[in-house]
This record gives sequence, C-alpha cells and structure tokens, in this order.
Amino acid sequence: MPLYKNLSQVSWTILGMVQDPVQQTEPFVIGTYTGEKCPQRMRDFLRPLVDEVNSLNGQNVTINAASVRIDGFNTDHRALCLIKEVQEGSQLACHKCEAIGWQAHGGMVYPIEKGAQRTDAGFRELRYFGHHKEELVGEGENQRMVAIQSALVGINYIDMVEDFRIGDEEHLLHTGIFVNLLENLMKGNGREILPIEQRKLEKLNRRLMRTTLPCECSPRHFVPISKDLAQYLLNRLYLGNLMKYVGITFFKDAMQPELFDMFIRVYWGMSLLSSSYFRAHWPVAEIFFSQFLSLYKEKFGQISYKFHCLTHLVEEVTRFGPLKRNSCRPFDNMLNSLRHVVDRRQSALDQVSSTLLLREAAFRKSGNAPNFPLSTK
Ligand SMILES: [Zn+2]
Repeated sequence: MPLYKNLSQVSWTILGMVQDPVQQTEPFVIGTYTGEKCPQRMRDFLRPLVDEVNSLNGQNVTINAASVRIDGFNTDHRALCLIKEVQEGSQLACHKCEAIGWQAHGGMVYPIEKGAQRTDAGFRELRYFGHHKEELVGEGENQRMVAIQSALVGINYIDMVEDFRIGDEEHLLHTGIFVNLLENLMKGNGREILPIEQRKLEKLNRRLMRTTLPCECSPRHFVPISKDLAQYLLNRLYLGNLMKYVGITFFKDAMQPELFDMFIRVYWGMSLLSSSYFRAHWPVAEIFFSQFLSLYKEKFGQISYKFHCLTHLVEEVTRFGPLKRNSCRPFDNMLNSLRHVVDRRQSALDQVSSTLLLREAAFRKSGNAPNFPLSTK
C-alpha cells in the first residue's frame, strides 16, 4: 500500500500480521520502498519478500509449535492488480472467476453471476489471456506481446487465486456498497429513486447527532450527512461505524421502500458473515447477496466490479474466517501512524527505519534505544 504520496516522492510499504486465533496481534513492517514513482517493476519490488519467505519456509520456522506460512494477501484492488500483474479495469478483471465484463455508460460493468473459477495452475501457466498484464519483448520482426508473470509465483505453496482476498469489508462493503446506498438516498437515481426530502434529511441528522457509539469506537459521534457526502467520503470510519453499529434500518423512514428492500439484504448478509457464531447460516448470506444483485440490476441496469465481488464474498469468508479477519483496517491504521512520523522533506526510508527500531526498543523495554536521530515531526 502507498505510505504517502506527494509531488516529489512516494513510498510503498509491505506489512505483515500474525493471524492468532486467541489474541489480537499488530501489523509489522516487512519492507519499504521509496522513490520518485511507484515501483515500475513489481518483480524487483517483491523479489526480496519472495526470497525471505522461501528462506523462512526452508528453515521450518514455528510459533507456538505452528509452522509459519503465509495465510493470504490483503490489499486494495489497485495494489492487488499490481502485485499479481493483472490488468486493472479490463473485461476480465475478476481475480476469482472468468466472468466477462462489457463497456456500458462510460465504464466497465460485470455479470451478477460467477464465471468459471480461476485456478492456481491456470494462473501460473499464464492461461488467462486478457487477464494477465502483457509486455513487449524481442526486437524488429520478432517483437511480440507476452504475459507478465507475478514475482509471487516464486512462493510455491501460495495459491495465486484463492490466497488473495478481494472481500475486504471496508473497501467492498463500506466504501463500495454502502456509499452507493447513500448516494442513491441523497442524490436519487433516475426517475424512480428521488433524492431525500430536506425535512427527512434534517430529521435523520437530528437522530444521528443524538447517537453515541460504544467507548471502543473512535470517533464516538457522527457529523451530519449532507447531500455531497463530503465528510463521509473523506472519513471511512464514519462509514464503517454507520454500517456496523447503526445499520441500514436507521435509514428506513428516509428511504424509498424498494431501495430499503434491496440494500437490507446486503446488511443481513454482512451481519451473518461478521461472526463465526453464524457459520452454519453463511450459505444464506450468499442467497441474500444474489437477491440484492438481481434487484439492483433490475432497477439500475448494471453492476460494477465491486458489486460483482459480492458473488465471491461467502466463499472467501468460508476460507479465511469472518469479515473482521479479512479487514485491511489494522494495516491502514499502521500506515497512518507511520505517516505521522514521516517528515516529507527528508528521506522517508531513513525515518521509517529509525522509527521502527525505536518502537522495537520501547516494546522490548530494553532501554537500548538505537542511535538514530528522531524525526522532526
Ligand atoms: Zn468473479
């Protein structure tokens, strides 16, 4: 994920986290790249990671008698396409299946059903023409386009399809589905879905301002929703808290019934996938998502890639565990904390490494702080 981006320098950081079924763990930094542009050759960026993972695998490292293996990769969609060398926004962009999208209304739209499942063998053999990125090789008459292989295939036990998550709750559900709901509610959609009336919006905001979230939430209060949604689009935590703690039923009186009837199905499915307690009912979530997609397509005529990803969410939760375990939130929090210590006028790499060493010393309470100057911020 990008650590930060300004006019002169970008920084990309690879984070890891131990999946411990008993206790909460924190992310740690595996590697950081800084430069004037994003890494041009992902193979070079990822090669040290692949070498280190293979080295650790060869040494049979264990934690509490459990072998250390990569459980999966969790990124946003753009970074996922980059590390897998997959074409972003193409007709064949789905990482999980061979569903074929098409151009409509200036964007790419996708079917509401899954296509044939992609396989690890198919990916490693570069069988998915139009899915893999391509590059020009050879000279003169021998020039031709060939598919680019991801450096991550160098980790031979990784499943290049199943081990890459596309169902992060924040990117898929909160900033994807839920923002779409709010946009439909606030701005309307076509002739049938009208924008929310001003008096209903004022009533909604009065109730929202009286709402206080549990003490483990931050922020514990909401700001009013406006028709431009500016605050809610800027602060993903507002969206997540609205979706998880307040819920869609809060908006029932303000919404047109057909809109509520459509989106409540995502909320039911999301609630079932939020805990292992409901594991026996997870297949029902797939039915709710399927009903939602059918209703949405019937009403609005098309679905985007994010909506198509809903068709794969239950299989992903079944593989990795409930939604919280799929979340990018701990990694985003870690990157945000690193952003606060990096002064953009100086080398980000030096600052990040010295900050990490200081944190490590503080964590171990060794008292031997490394001999690095502190960042000026
Ligand atoms: Zn798909």
